[in-house]
Amino acid sequence: MKILTGKTALVTGSTSGIGLGIAKALAQAGANIVLNGFGDADSALADILATGVQTMHHPADMRSLREIESMFTAAKAKFEMVDILVNNAGIQHVAPIESFDPQKWDDIISINLSSSFHTTRHALPDMLARNSGRIINIASVHGLVGSAGKSAYVAAKHGLVGLTKVTALETTKTGVTCNAICPGFVLTPLVQKQIIDLANAEHISLDEAQARLLGEKQPSGRFVTPEELGNIALMLCSPLAAEMRGTTIVADGGWTAQ
Ligand code: NAD
Repeated sequence: MKILTGKTALVTGSTSGIGLGIAKALAQAGANIVLNGFGDADSALADILATGVQTMHHPADMRSLREIESMFTAAKAKFEMVDILVNNAGIQHVAPIESFDPQKWDDIISINLSSSFHTTRHALPDMLARNSGRIINIASVHGLVGSAGKSAYVAAKHGLVGLTKVTALETTKTGVTCNAICPGFVLTPLVQKQIIDLANAEHISLDEAQARLLGEKQPSGRFVTPEELGNIALMLCSPLAAEMRGTTIVADGGWTAQ
């Protein structure tokens, strides 16, 4: 019997990147998975089914309260309750404040921060009724430090770290825990776009842009992987982490140690 057999994990933004890596790690440990996110869900569903657990995909847009609610209704209809909630969906936009598109600001705050409040308020009643549950917020090093050009992202991620602490304090005498994972650079479509934009702006190759992006921030000189983050999420779901409450677990190749 695997440690998460009989549990259900809902991972927002899990059709690619970090969310898919975490969904796979939890599925390999036996959890049924509710996938969410845009794009091609079929290959993500196939990856999860290959681990032998049950799965479903719900395409809720994290900007929509109504769609988030219908995702929880569908997840509970299939799996009874959500035992593990991973708030991972996120987008990025890089521009100085004076030219930052206000719509992009609203979208980033809505997807990277507010959606986690809405999913948490839907998940908590069942978790508290069973006195068991895990909420994992995928923040970022940008929940702890800033970078120029990333006003909305940094504000949202700092907010998500704050929400993590309050969720942990409101559940502190229960079997429900809430923690944040703060990755440095991970090579996903979200970062690939920043590499392409840097290469175009500076007229340099993609390899040079990648090395420059890492070199500026991440002393290890290599990307953190979705698999590594999946293992951290799995640790947080295990009984070993029962008294980890409101923490930020940093996996950033030394970024914030500087
Ligand atoms: P990604 O682009 O690979 O994946 C983002 C996921 O979110 C996709 O499944 C996408 O479909 C989904 N998504 C986007 N908008 C959505 C919406 N409105 N509603 C529902 N789903 C939506 O990006 P990623 O790098 O895997 O990022 C995942 C999380 O990790 C984000 O919160 C991001 O901020 C965080 N993060 C990423 C890095 C990195 O270097 N890649 C570092 C630290 C934190």
